[in-house]
Amino acid sequence: MPKIPVKLVDWSDIVEWSWGLAKKIEESNYIPDVVIAISRGGYVPARLLCDFLGVENLLSIQSQHWTEAAKKGERAIIKFEYVIDLSDMKALLVDDIVDTGDSVILAKEYILRNWKPKELRTAALQWISSVAKIKPDYYFMEVREWYWFQYPWTRLEDVTQFIKRILESTYKESGKSTWRVEELTKEFKEWYGIEVDKRYIDEAIKMLIKKRVIKAINNELVYLPG
Ligand code: ADP
Repeated sequence: MPKIPVKLVDWSDIVEWSWGLAKKIEESNYIPDVVIAISRGGYVPARLLCDFLGVENLLSIQSQHWTEAAKKGERAIIKFEYVIDLSDMKALLVDDIVDTGDSVILAKEYILRNWKPKELRTAALQWISSVAKIKPDYYFMEVREWYWFQYPWTRLEDVTQFIKRILESTYKESGKSTWRVEELTKEFKEWYGIEVDKRYIDEAIKMLIKKRVIKAINNELVYLPG
């Protein structure tokens, strides 16, 4: 049993899901004049929806989560605020997944208040109905049990984080700080229940060395806590 429930999503899934999402939007007879991607996760689905719905106008808005020093309160903010006039346009706000719903709620409020579109609807490939505070107007897949969906556009970022988590947690539990790459790769499969191309593991290790999370000594990796 993996420690963290992860599902690997590949590019062909994304095309199928975006296609299905486009059909749902089409069937509802909503014809957006502009698509707005929530950056960064909404970029690829938003671009595909433009293609599948024949929409030329694509904008984006970036929301970011701030982990406050005291932890606990993770709150989302709009990262680069700008104001445009969408008063003669129907808009579709797109994200990859609605998990807590915070990003979508925040972006929606910001756009309604500042960009004033004629109409604004929301769409996501996936909606985690058991935890989300908001249900998007359109979604391709309802997810009831929480998973981390490992999307193809965050593969390196996720693998890097995943490895870091193994190193930190093992060190905390047992004090172990020295690893061989093969050992780490095996642990990765056990923790997350997925396999990724070896080059992602290698590149993630390089990143962690660059960030001084680990140090390569002879043929081993040494975790540098703190
Ligand atoms: P939302 O506000 O849409 O619920 P969050 O604010 O929780 O999403 O997270 C923001 C972004 O983090 C999402 O758009 C997505 O790119 C990523 N993310 C959040 N939860 C997941 C998940 N369960 N699997 C994969 N990516 C996720």
